[in-house]
Amino acid sequence: GGRQRLLVVANRLPVSATRKGNNWSLEVSAGGLVSALLGVRQFETRWIGWAGVNVVDEADQGALTKALEEQRCVPVFLDEETVHQYYNGYCNNVLWPLFHYLGLPQEDRLSCTRGLEDQFEAYKRANSMFADVVYSVYREGDIVWCHDYHLMFLPRCLKELDNNIKVGWFLHTPFPSSEIYRTLPSRSELLKAVLSADLIGFHTYDYARHFVSACTRILGLEGTPSGVEDHPLGKLTRVAAFPIGIDPNRFIDALQSPEVQTYVKELQEKFCGRKVMLGVDRLDMIKGIPQKLLAFEKFLDENVEWRDKVQLVQIAVPTRTDVHDYQRLTSQVHKIVGRINGRFGTLTTVPIHHLDRSLDFHRLCALYAITDVALVTSLRDGMNLVSYEFVACQNMKKGVLILSELAGAAQSLGAGAILVNPWNISDVAAAMKDALDMSEADREECHCHNFEHVTTHTAQVWADTFVSELHDTIYEAQQRI
Ligand code: UDP
Repeated sequence: GGRQRLLVVANRLPVSATRKGNNWSLEVSAGGLVSALLGVRQFETRWIGWAGVNVVDEADQGALTKALEEQRCVPVFLDEETVHQYYNGYCNNVLWPLFHYLGLPQEDRLSCTRGLEDQFEAYKRANSMFADVVYSVYREGDIVWCHDYHLMFLPRCLKELDNNIKVGWFLHTPFPSSEIYRTLPSRSELLKAVLSADLIGFHTYDYARHFVSACTRILGLEGTPSGVEDHPLGKLTRVAAFPIGIDPNRFIDALQSPEVQTYVKELQEKFCGRKVMLGVDRLDMIKGIPQKLLAFEKFLDENVEWRDKVQLVQIAVPTRTDVHDYQRLTSQVHKIVGRINGRFGTLTTVPIHHLDRSLDFHRLCALYAITDVALVTSLRDGMNLVSYEFVACQNMKKGVLILSELAGAAQSLGAGAILVNPWNISDVAAAMKDALDMSEADREECHCHNFEHVTTHTAQVWADTFVSELHDTIYEAQQRI
């Protein structure tokens, strides 16, 4: 009896392990998926994934496995070479940029790694190592929920081990137009592997539609309103949109805590009446940070009266710092920030506060709460949870959300935001002015619309919907036989 067991498989476990002498210290790590699934309590959940460390020694592996057990986590041990080829290579250097419309690696990105084919082999090898660990934990009746572009082969690997395993797969990034996707050398194998799942989920209808088109155009399968059909075999793979959400109460409750209220007062004193615009992003090319800064510069250029009345705070969380493209982005961003602060700063103030680090949860909540205008300028983004978290923290202030139409969140928060094309610097600069000038009544209306959405389309609802849809899909398939 008891609750339904749910095995959540993602590349990374929700905890990071670091060695402390003979022991392991564990820390819950930040990120979209982790935040979302923190809100899911209706299943007996186990996490399966890589702990982010290379552990060779068997006794060491045993000790870490034991430590993780208390957190309901089961580690997958990957050797350094596999991590390099599978994770840094195929996942982050090939699939991530491709799925965000940046295309396949050009020569300079290819030459520092081995060929795509080696990386693809490592990808398949890694996925089958994940499958073996899942299978060692699996009990009949369990639901296995595979996450993201790292694990597109996992549904096939699992079904090969036992065709009765209930397998769902969810993609947290965009799925690009088939015209982009078709450039991938291993396009067919990858699609077929993921089609082994019973249910495939995306954040938006557009991504689901792109996926179905890729299957019809590249594999010649039939796309139906409910998914993809493989005729000779009669197999239907259900494909649908399941927009993710957050756990809004985690934020709403935090705002009441004395700790956050102290931070709020500190920040209000620090910014002494100036309007605060906020960006919170991993420092990734998909987030459009340079474009956002250039738009802010144009805004300051054009609106002299606003120069000493507005402050941009940009939190740029370091990510993939060992990768050359990311190092180049960091220095590009620093250069732009330096120029703007040099141009518009005074003896006592600078227009941009740029931080190259993450904030703890309570400081982040305080910052969301005191913000007047949030700036999300992603060039592509699966969903973008920062926009949701901002809305959850804005019941007092009712600030304005400027949101890229190329983020998944534009499909859900679009009607309560100022939508922009982040590539159009003039458009974004004008949106900044409009946001600052927006009347209280309009701000209230936009905020209420967004708040309603964020508090009803929660992470819990998302997970619940996905898993019950998976149940139904399998039930219907059994009826057909
Ligand atoms: N975040 C965090 N600490 C920070 C900045 C951000 O924990 O200093 C979290 C933020 O609360 C959000 C996540 O990182 O939950 C970012 O998710 P999003 O979907 O916006 O983008 P992703 O980084 O997944 O591309």
